[in-house]
Amino acid sequence: VGKELCLGMDFGTSGARYALIDKQGTIHAQGKREYPLYMREETMDWVRSWKTTLFLLLKDVPAHLRSLIKSISIDGTSATTLIIDSNTGEPLWKPLLYNESFPDALPIVKSIAPSTHTADWLLWLLHGKLGVSDYNNALKVGYDPELESYPPWLLSQPYSRLLPSVRAPGTSIDYLKEEIRMQFGFPKDCVVCTGTTDSVAAFLAARATEPGKAVTSLGSTLAIKLLSTSRIEDARFGVYSHRLHDKWLVGGASNTGGAVLRQIFTDEELEELSKKIDPMEASPLDYYPLQAVGERFPEADPMMAPRLHPRPESDVEYLHGILESIARIEAKAYKLLKDLGATPVQEVFTAGGGSKNEKWMKIRERVLGLPVSRATQTEAAYGAALLALRGVQQNL
Ligand code: ADP
Repeated sequence: VGKELCLGMDFGTSGARYALIDKQGTIHAQGKREYPLYMREETMDWVRSWKTTLFLLLKDVPAHLRSLIKSISIDGTSATTLIIDSNTGEPLWKPLLYNESFPDALPIVKSIAPSTHTADWLLWLLHGKLGVSDYNNALKVGYDPELESYPPWLLSQPYSRLLPSVRAPGTSIDYLKEEIRMQFGFPKDCVVCTGTTDSVAAFLAARATEPGKAVTSLGSTLAIKLLSTSRIEDARFGVYSHRLHDKWLVGGASNTGGAVLRQIFTDEELEELSKKIDPMEASPLDYYPLQAVGERFPEADPMMAPRLHPRPESDVEYLHGILESIARIEAKAYKLLKDLGATPVQEVFTAGGGSKNEKWMKIRERVLGLPVSRATQTEAAYGAALLALRGVQQNL
């Protein structure tokens, strides 16, 4: 009796990763590739770079495990789009990256050619069926995951026939193309499944599957994601929801976070100073740590100034005050989601560089009044592998 494995791949901003898991979620192999630098007419040829990386990752998966892979899924940065030829699937233009604004010439191209997301396009390379997406990637195209359709204004456009057909993330699309299967030694019944965006995949990795479970990401900024039975949208705070099967993933991001800590302390200092903090004691210092002017969530105030004064003599007290203040912002963020109608938070998993700070975790437990722990898995590739697993389990 052979094991059955599922492959997830994450195409992030700086590189791509893969994770290979079994039905229990145990990792059997994982790896990473930086994007190769291919230039074309003095700009980065992302399409070629992604495509090369996809096949490098397939080759990186140990050969003896490839024959056990039953399904594959991919996540990618959500707002990165590609304009492709509706007959051949080949890109007609360089991709619009998640952080780029729309060039003037493109609306014309857009009116004749379909757009697709990185994850969709890479999955297409594997299964060969054009025009399939998932409702997380399609959200920014205008797809309404609640009504399960595009809005009427979009459907009445001349190019509406080019809009991708949308499925739930982790739905099997088709079998892996024969030539790829033969080349890499994947089994005949290996299916390719719809993916999701990188941030949804990272949430899935934490396996917070019940409403009320949340993930706080303490990276350069502070981002929270909460699984809710109701959908919340509020443009003032930049709060919106992704659909996740029968639930909603509500999210918001504050400008506070680790970047401010790094401006004041080195990572080594953070570790040393943290050791001396008594997390059971509330710090009276009240800051609003920001790198620059302006906050969006949980307070919408583009003019908000960073507040990091007065600075006490003791660096331990200073750091305690900053960590405690960020924890209060986190608590306020969860409170705001509740006030907007989301399922109240019950338990918080933590991801990102700040998650290794045990003292901060204790401070946050006290301030939030909730169990807080470090997420076991935080890699988006692991979340994509869980979607691949979902895809085979629904096939059975
Ligand atoms: P990014 O959002 O850039 O991917 P990471 O998840 O890599 O961020 O986290 C980096 C952040 O973690 C840095 O801004 C740093 O201040 C913070 N960090 C690193 N070590 C600690 C620590 N011991 N305690 C708190 N924060 C830390």
